[in-house]
Amino acid sequence: MEKNKWIKRVCDILLANDGVTLEEADAPALYRAVSRATMAEIHPTWRKCRDKKKKRVGYLSAEFLLGRAIHSNLYNLGKLDKVKEWLGERGVDFTLFEEIEDAALGNGGLGRLAACYLESGATVGIPLDGYGIRYRYGLFRQTFVSGFQKEEADDWQRCGDPWSYRRESESVEVEFSDFTVRAVPYDTPVIGYGGKTVNTLRLWQSEEPRGFDFEAFDAMQTDRIAKSRMNCESITYALYPNDSTERGRLLRLRQEYFFTSATIQDIIRKHKREGLPIERLGEYITLQLNDTHPVFAVPEMIRLLMKEGLDFEAAFVIARSVFNFTNHTILGEALECWDMKRVRKLIPKIASILVRMQRRLERELPDGGLFLIKDGRVHMANVAIYAGSRVNGVAALHTEILKESTFRDWYAHYPERFLNVTNGVTPRRWLALCNPQLSDLITRRIGDGWQNDLERLRELGKFATDPETRAEFFRIKQEKKAELSAHIYKKEGILLPPEFIFDVQAKRLHEYKRQLLNAFSILYYYFRLKDGLEPDFKPTAFIFGAKAAPAYYMAKAIIKFIKSIAELVNNDEDVKDKMRVVFVTDYNVSYAEKIMPAADISEQISMAGMEASGTGNMKFMLNGTVTLGTMDGANVEICEEAGIENEYIFGATVDEVKRVKENYDPLAIYNADPELRRIVDTLDDGTFDDNGTGMLKALKGSLFGGWSKDHYLVLHDFRDYVRVKSKLIGDYGTDEFISKCIRNTASGGKFSSDRSILDYARDVWKI
Ligand SMILES: *Cc1c(COP(=O)(O)O)cnc(C)c1O
Repeated sequence: MEKNKWIKRVCDILLANDGVTLEEADAPALYRAVSRATMAEIHPTWRKCRDKKKKRVGYLSAEFLLGRAIHSNLYNLGKLDKVKEWLGERGVDFTLFEEIEDAALGNGGLGRLAACYLESGATVGIPLDGYGIRYRYGLFRQTFVSGFQKEEADDWQRCGDPWSYRRESESVEVEFSDFTVRAVPYDTPVIGYGGKTVNTLRLWQSEEPRGFDFEAFDAMQTDRIAKSRMNCESITYALYPNDSTERGRLLRLRQEYFFTSATIQDIIRKHKREGLPIERLGEYITLQLNDTHPVFAVPEMIRLLMKEGLDFEAAFVIARSVFNFTNHTILGEALECWDMKRVRKLIPKIASILVRMQRRLERELPDGGLFLIKDGRVHMANVAIYAGSRVNGVAALHTEILKESTFRDWYAHYPERFLNVTNGVTPRRWLALCNPQLSDLITRRIGDGWQNDLERLRELGKFATDPETRAEFFRIKQEKKAELSAHIYKKEGILLPPEFIFDVQAKRLHEYKRQLLNAFSILYYYFRLKDGLEPDFKPTAFIFGAKAAPAYYMAKAIIKFIKSIAELVNNDEDVKDKMRVVFVTDYNVSYAEKIMPAADISEQISMAGMEASGTGNMKFMLNGTVTLGTMDGANVEICEEAGIENEYIFGATVDEVKRVKENYDPLAIYNADPELRRIVDTLDDGTFDDNGTGMLKALKGSLFGGWSKDHYLVLHDFRDYVRVKSKLIGDYGTDEFISKCIRNTASGGKFSSDRSILDYARDVWKI
């Protein structure tokens, strides 16, 4: 009955929208119809959740890295297997939907975190809505041309956007000094596990204000008409492809003000519609600022409250009760500042609110040494800390660094505002969905229910040394490796034998993440194999996935270097039974879902103190992968949870980094270590060809000269890294090693984003 009703609904939609039958429909049409049938089904729940008159949370983020929605939504509704079966009976293979575009409206960790948090909010039943930007083009698609990264436009709506409704009537206008634009909201349902709660992700698209300029048309001023339209639509045209760093560009400033103004207008309008007094806004809404990108929401709220008749002080106090701020990085270049001249020129009313906030701060703490505006620049993190209730870091170590150094002066004055909320990932997407085989094993051992109560994975611990569990775990890992191998062969044309150890580093390309250190280790093993110095080396596949920001020269040089190493190694008959190297193309959420379950080694090798938390590390852990990493970010807590004896830790700690940096001499390390020298010298001794760009030589230069001087201690940590890596490769495959893998899955409960969301609810949102 349910089946017939559902199939009929899909068929009706296909016929109405595309004029085809189920049998005639292509993948995009089927995708749209199945998605819309699901949208119709959840409609009553969605409405009910929206209409509840209780305190709601708004999660403001310039990025939501959603990935594919269809699997996750059907899974959370308990329908995925049924729908697969029903469609299968009609000759439709569900793997068809893997051709559908990823929605990549984000760069990396920060945007993916926002997506995991929305899903967890709905799962634990908290009224949490996301607000962001509906970019026409998301993060670029990556290709390679002779080993160099090239970027292509990401047309994520190519197959349509069936998971959103355009809410024309809820549009608002956003005013800039030179023109006004219309912000049109698109609402996407966020379906929690179990399907009881459906929250909303509202993304704003910039368009021309309503009304057509007939006068201009009549005068044949089509240029003027086209230009006005261009101006308006350009604001949400594309996502800035920078991860962690932001150059102060004008269009970026427009993007930030655009979506925060639209969001705050929307929230105040909703509050008034309910007939509630404006003074009580803080009782009905609390807002989380995901990094500094949405911080213009603060002065915008003060401005709008003053328009409602409140004085500045009253408006400030309400704003302070509403906003909370999450910091994501201590990278200096990522702490956003805006030139006040620019702000004044583009959004003068916001500039004057910021100045009033600065004056208030000066009155409140005359000798505090704190500032919002300094040397003509407004520091967005400071604005968020001053005019918010709570400030959090994203892992225990990161929060300590914020208190001790980054925001030291603020912490001295407002210690009660600071707290830690360790990041998490949704176990539905990152274990249940991407690894049904391991999920099935877990359920057979500890029963159902861990999917939304992840601490229960602890019960798996007692099976860590059980021979049968070990054998099954190992067999499953092999199966996932075979699946990934087939996928990589299809996409990249490189064969990775599934018996090889799969050593994976997948994350954005950044010098602090030290893909270069990993690359050096590959050459280390390569040369030693060639020289007959590694007789017992276990065959290993070194797998990379990463995008570099298009303007990040050194990151692109590192990609070229790794691609060159892959060429060298994969074409060398001498080592083909011992090693392979692959840099996968266009690493994204869907690729990650295939990679994480197939990894034997999770490379988390940032210089200590640099990675705020990391979330990739958690995805690997849940899938039973040991961490080869530094004591950085959430790696510290991963060790705490699993026991440090179940991970492979190396390198300078935060304190050691500080000490080493006092008189660091990378050249001395290079000169004293002939093996390392040979590796580093491949950058300019003709081993590799960089098409005369000088890129690789510049990479070598970054280790010894200029500003950088091996800023991230690659050479310092090299020896300890290969020592521990060799130990890991030596341990691989033993019973004790497989037990370590199982203990990682069993200890991953803390890293569910359900736990993070409940932490926020209790300690920050008071909901
Ligand atoms: C999880 C994830 C990230 C974040 O990875 P880190 O290792 O934490 O930097 C980035 N990109 C994608 C596609 C992800 O799924």
